[in-house]
Amino acid sequence: MAEQVTCPQCGGTGEQVWQEAHPCPGCGGSGGWWESVWDGDDYREEFVPCGACGGQGSTLEPTHGPCTYCNGQGWVYARPGTPAQMGCLALPLGLVLLWWVLG
Ligand SMILES: [Zn+2]
Ligand SMILES: [Zn+2]
Repeated sequence: MAEQVTCPQCGGTGEQVWQEAHPCPGCGGSGGWWESVWDGDDYREEFVPCGACGGQGSTLEPTHGPCTYCNGQGWVYARPGTPAQMGCLALPLGLVLLWWVLG
């Protein structure tokens, strides 16, 4: 029987938060608008970048969803002898190897 452990990705909450691009509500995704500006001689069109998104046209907003690693359960089955343990060994070994190569 495999052991159940806390999901390493979400820490047991079963929830994931990531930044997702949304069209900016301030400019509707266009990044700004053209304005007629009187320069003392004639009107000229000047592009005014939207202040809310800085002219990007989109804003990053935190989005919630179920964790993809544990499917929102908050736990996963522990797999014996896999990555977590191997990684702990591989890092020092890699450093030693690097030190040896660089001499
Ligand atoms: Zn998870
Ligand atoms: Zn905007």
